[in-house]
Amino acid sequence: MDPEEFRRLGHRFVDWVADYRAGLDALPVGATVEPGWVRGQLAADLPERPRPLEELLAEVDRVVVPASAHWQHPGFFGYFPANASLTSLLGDLLSGGLGAQGMLWSTSPACTEVEQVLLDGLAAALGLGKEFTFDGGGGGSIQDSASSAVLVALLAALHRTSDGAWRETGTDGLERVYLTAETHSSLAKAARVAGLGAGAVRVVEPCAGSLAMSPDALAAAMAADVAAGLRPVLVCPTIGTTGTGAVDPVREIAQVAREHGAWVHVDAAWAGVAALCPEFRHLLDGVELVDSFCTDAHKWLLTAFDASMLWVRDGVALPAALSITPEYLRNAASESGEVVDYRDWQVPLGRRFRALKLWTVLHGLGLQGLRAHLRGHVALASELASWVRADPRFTLAVPPSLALVCLRVVGRDGTPDDSADDRATRAVLERVNAAGSALLTHTVVDGRYVIRVAIGSVATRRRHVEALWTALCEAADAVR
Ligand code: PLP
Repeated sequence: MDPEEFRRLGHRFVDWVADYRAGLDALPVGATVEPGWVRGQLAADLPERPRPLEELLAEVDRVVVPASAHWQHPGFFGYFPANASLTSLLGDLLSGGLGAQGMLWSTSPACTEVEQVLLDGLAAALGLGKEFTFDGGGGGSIQDSASSAVLVALLAALHRTSDGAWRETGTDGLERVYLTAETHSSLAKAARVAGLGAGAVRVVEPCAGSLAMSPDALAAAMAADVAAGLRPVLVCPTIGTTGTGAVDPVREIAQVAREHGAWVHVDAAWAGVAALCPEFRHLLDGVELVDSFCTDAHKWLLTAFDASMLWVRDGVALPAALSITPEYLRNAASESGEVVDYRDWQVPLGRRFRALKLWTVLHGLGLQGLRAHLRGHVALASELASWVRADPRFTLAVPPSLALVCLRVVGRDGTPDDSADDRATRAVLERVNAAGSALLTHTVVDGRYVIRVAIGSVATRRRHVEALWTALCEAADAVR
C-alpha cells in the first residue's frame, strides 16, 4: 500500500468508525452470539491472494459487530468503563503512523520525552507531589495495564526488600504481600508470575463495617509475619476497588508498611484519575508516603486502551530491578546516564508511542474538559443513587463511590430475605441485559449478589441513565 492508497482507504476506514460510533445507540450493548458462532462464519482458509480491503469492512459489519459487546455504547455500565474517545483514536493513528519503538531513549527520543513531560504534568495535575516527577527524583511511565504496573512494582519491591539479592537468587519463600478480599486479582496474579506462590499472599481483614483494609489488622499481620521470620515485601491499598469502589486508608497503611520496610503500591486503576478534580483529591490522602501509584487513562480518562500510568517515587527502583543490557542495546545516550530508557521500567523490551494518544486527549480537551467528563458521570451516579434510596424496590448495597452505584433488589414486603433478594437481584440484572439497551455486571458483597452500575462511557448522558433506571424498575416489578 502506498501513501496515496492509504489516504483513500483511510477515509473509508475512518468513515466506518464514525458511522459505527454514530449508530451505537441503535445496537444492543451486549453480544448475543453463541460460542463458536464467529469461527463458523469465517473461512478457515486464509486468503492466498490479496483481496480488496473494502471487503474486509463488510466482513466486520457482518461478523464482528454482532459478536461484540459494545464497550463504547452509551448504555454500557458494566465492569469499569474503557473510554476509547475518538480524540484518542486520532493520537493512536499518529502513533501507528510513526511506528516507532520506544524501548530506548535513542530509538525514539520523542517517544520517551513526550511521555516524561506528560506524566510529570499529570502528576502535578493529580496532586501527586514533586517526588513522583522526574525533576523530583521519581518519574512516571505508561504501562500497558494496571496488571503490568503492579507486577513491575512487585519486582522492584522484591529487589529492594532483599537488598538486591532477589535479582541473583530469586525468591526464598519468605516473602509476603498484603491485600484485602476486594483487591484486584492482578496482584495475586503478579505474585504468581513473580514466583511467590499463593502462600505469599496475605488477605488483611477490613475495618469494621466497611470493605476498606484495616491498618490495625495490617499491623498485626505484618508483626506476626516478621516474628515468624517472614519478609513483608509489598502492601497494596486500593483507591476504588473493582467490586464496590471501596477506598483503603492509604496514609495509615503506608505508615504501618514503612515500619517494616515494605513497598506500598497504590492501585487506583479506575478512581485515581478523579483526583484531577480538586473536590475528589481527598481520595488520594497519604499518597505522598507511598512508593508507587497507578491509575489507568484507559478506563475513565478518555484514552483508548492501553494506557496505564504508573508513577514511582524512586526513579531508579524499576531499572535497578529490571535492567539487563545485551550488547546490541548499548549506546552512548544510555551510558551517559542522562536519559530514561523505558524498557527498564516494564517487562517487554519494545514499546509503542502510547503517549501520543494521551497527548491528543490532553490537547483536545484540556484538563478542564477531562474534569467536566469525570464530574458529569459522578453527578449522574449521585442522581441514580438518590433514585435508588427513594425507591422501596431497591437498596444501595454500599454507599456510591464516585461514578459507581451498587444496588440490590428488595422483596415486596420490604423485609430483608437474603436468598430471595439475591435471586431477584440476579433476575433483574439478567432481564436488563437481555433487553439490550444497557449492560450491567455484578459483584458479591458479604455473600450477597449485587448489581454494579459503573457510569463512565464516553457517550453516556442523563437520558441513558434515566433509561437504565426505567429498565431496572420494570425488571424489578416483573420479578418481585
Ligand atoms: N485494578 C483495579 C482496581 C481494577 O478495577 C482493574 C480492572 O478493572 C485492574 C486493576 C486491572 O486493570 P488492567 O486491565 O489495566 O490491568
